[in-house]
Amino acid sequence: MKKVVAGVDIGGTNTRFGLVDEKGKVLAEGHLKTTDYPEISGFVKALGAGIKKLLSGRKDISLAGVGIGAPDANYHRGTIEHAPNLAWKGIVPLGDLVKKELKVPVAVTNDANAAAMGEMVFGGAKNMKDFIVLTLGTGLGSGIVIDGKMVYGHTGFAGEVGHMVVVPDGRVCGCGRKGCLEAYASATGLVRTVSEMICESREESVLRDVPPSKLTAKQIAEAAEKNDPVAVKAMQYTAEKLGFGIVNSIVFSSPEAIFLFGGLAQAGEILFKPVREYLKKHNYVLFKNTVKILPSGIPESNGAVMGAAALILNELS
Ligand SMILES: [Zn+2]
Repeated sequence: MKKVVAGVDIGGTNTRFGLVDEKGKVLAEGHLKTTDYPEISGFVKALGAGIKKLLSGRKDISLAGVGIGAPDANYHRGTIEHAPNLAWKGIVPLGDLVKKELKVPVAVTNDANAAAMGEMVFGGAKNMKDFIVLTLGTGLGSGIVIDGKMVYGHTGFAGEVGHMVVVPDGRVCGCGRKGCLEAYASATGLVRTVSEMICESREESVLRDVPPSKLTAKQIAEAAEKNDPVAVKAMQYTAEKLGFGIVNSIVFSSPEAIFLFGGLAQAGEILFKPVREYLKKHNYVLFKNTVKILPSGIPESNGAVMGAAALILNELS
């Protein structure tokens, strides 16, 4: 009988889960609406039933464990703690509850750490011991691997590069402080940059025709591809802020590569090129030409599920 694990990606709106084999192949998938479950007990029951349904009728496979990626998750404790984007308040003992429900080992970590595990087990970091994954979505998450080990730190929350201050007294961040990297280098940050540039200049741009609340990072990236001057400047500005965060991350862990994952990373060369140029100019001399800036080697479509599966596979091996 083949052993498989379940990878679970809990988001503010949707939860996706899948059965994944040791090679990273997703054998079956399901999803839940996270917002349908205001109580964690109801959510765990529904998730357990969903995973059992994927397993039912398949006598060739057995469930060896469950890996979960969730916002504000604490790996050490298997908990979700004070997540602003989830209905479950306070400290939620998610790992213990799922373990009770499915009677297999469970590991929980935040979504960016799960992405980094996915990169290490199935993706572009298979042969690397030192690398950083930055997830560029609504916010900016990071997973830091040093000497083959995920860095969790004293609290279990290490790897919050998104809240590294890059502009003292800068833009207000969702965390309540000012000038954090994620307020600039994320899909939302890019939209904010374009909105500011449109207000402050008279430069022509197709983006002027889009109502500010409808503006998306994807539209901006597409406009930049077509050389829209405001979009190009905004991408450049975003890349410089991201580059600033990256050179500051490099000095403490000397990674072999930085992987960019998530919606904004889909912009491709229009983002990667100015980031690489920034590094050429501003990277500390000892690390010049030692760090690759790479797209994730995990497919965007089920990367989060694969990452969560990689987390538990790594524990079981
Ligand atoms: Zn912040």
